[in-house]
Amino acid sequence: MDDLVQRVKTALTRMGGRMTHQRRVILEVLEESDTHMTAKDLYLRAHARDPRVTLSTVYRTLDLCKSLGLVHARRFSRSSGPEWYEPAVGEEHHHFVCIQCHRVIEFDAPEIAQIVQRLTEEHGITKAHASLSIYGVCAACSRRVR
Ligand SMILES: [Zn+2]
Ligand SMILES: [Zn+2]
Repeated sequence: MDDLVQRVKTALTRMGGRMTHQRRVILEVLEESDTHMTAKDLYLRAHARDPRVTLSTVYRTLDLCKSLGLVHARRFSRSSGPEWYEPAVGEEHHHFVCIQCHRVIEFDAPEIAQIVQRLTEEHGITKAHASLSIYGVCAACSRRVR
């Protein structure tokens, strides 16, 4: 499987853009993280590696990758709250978010893929994409309360 840096580089080349060192550092940090990261987290870690990285470079890089479909942005709170980013690799997955400790559990749901497929066929929609977030109290937090 191609890594995120390589996939973005290929897409950029196709568009006549290029992979800058700052972009590479940001993507490497995102790829190495095995969890979801906010733009601020990404900025702090990328900036430690390359002080030329600014928060606006991070946002621009993330927007670019989102438009290329190579990075997913998730919202894990029902009100506002930051967006969480992760590489878009493999099958789409979904998230359970604990409303107390904010722990995130990823899960697959073929049923959702079927719904998307049906909509696509019935309405001629292209590039359809769905990600479900389910909120609740995780087992560890439930035990702590009682
Ligand atoms: Zn919890
Ligand atoms: Zn995820």
